[in-house]
Amino acid sequence: MNQDIFSADKTFSLEVFPPKKDDDFASAFSVLDEMGALSPDFISVTYGAGGSRAGKTIEIASYIENTLHIPAIAHVTCVGSTKESVSQVAEALKQHGISHILALRGDRPKDMTDEQFEAREFEHATDLISFLRRDDFFHFAGACYPEKHFDAFSMETDLRHLKTKQDAGAEYLISQLFFDNDYFYTFMDRAISKGITIPVSAGIMPITSPRQIGTTVTLSGSSIPKQFADLIARYGDNAEDMRKAGIDYAARQIRDLQDNGVKHIHLYSMNKPKVTAEILQAIKDVIA
Ligand code: FAD
Repeated sequence: MNQDIFSADKTFSLEVFPPKKDDDFASAFSVLDEMGALSPDFISVTYGAGGSRAGKTIEIASYIENTLHIPAIAHVTCVGSTKESVSQVAEALKQHGISHILALRGDRPKDMTDEQFEAREFEHATDLISFLRRDDFFHFAGACYPEKHFDAFSMETDLRHLKTKQDAGAEYLISQLFFDNDYFYTFMDRAISKGITIPVSAGIMPITSPRQIGTTVTLSGSSIPKQFADLIARYGDNAEDMRKAGIDYAARQIRDLQDNGVKHIHLYSMNKPKVTAEILQAIKDVIA
């Protein structure tokens, strides 16, 4: 299925991750079946840090593409990879008919020595796109950061690098998750003024358990607006109430984005089909 998902006027997509343990694969496929039944425009599949377990990303993406017949995007990181290993991954993706790649730098793996880091073959996501686009089978998306990437000196430099990513061949961008839509609106105004013309999908993550706050939120570096902090303070001790409040918050974020003309939404599903279905139910009038 080599359809042009990156040029669609409107997209509602999901991110899933491969199970951490091989034993969980059987249940992973039933989760994917439930996700597929929600008919997203595409499903993206994360890649283990440093390229570990790349085969699992390919296996999950292949199931989405070839069994569920929903376009799959395989995330591929490059920081710990060689040109040879990246070529092998690309070849495997091609064999499975997966033509969409979210090209990422990734974060430096903990076990990577300074020597290995200095000798790395890819520095930035843009280098990965430039390397892989020699094969015109592939289409590339890239990541962007409404609150700036943590390595970037300023939003100005981050946006300049984003423009380079677009010039290198990225056709679509997926944003880091955010909880305050104003960051996204400001980012979009600035990105457009710097010449970003490709679609940008707004990354939304429903926070349905207090545990998620500590892990995901800290990792993403996203700001917590007061309204959201109040919600955590009020419901954080009660699992069911927190779940409902988290779904409601994400649905309200999406409604507001749609009201403000944002046409592309990417939901970080955390492999939770029921939460995803409840969000879709809550916003069905605006994403139809
Ligand atoms: P880059 O685009 O390379 O940018 C990284 C930094 O380098 C930025 O500060 C940028 O301004 C700067 N930069 C970029 N280009 C240049 C240049 N030419 N010259 C100088 N500086 C430059 N990680 C995983 O391990 N697996 C995943 O599956 C995964 N999925 C993700 C999905 C999304 C939607 C997002 C937003 C992030 C994801 N990540 C994932 C995390 C990502 O790998 C990290 O955020 C990483 O630190 C940066 O990756 P990048 O592709 O944005 O890097």
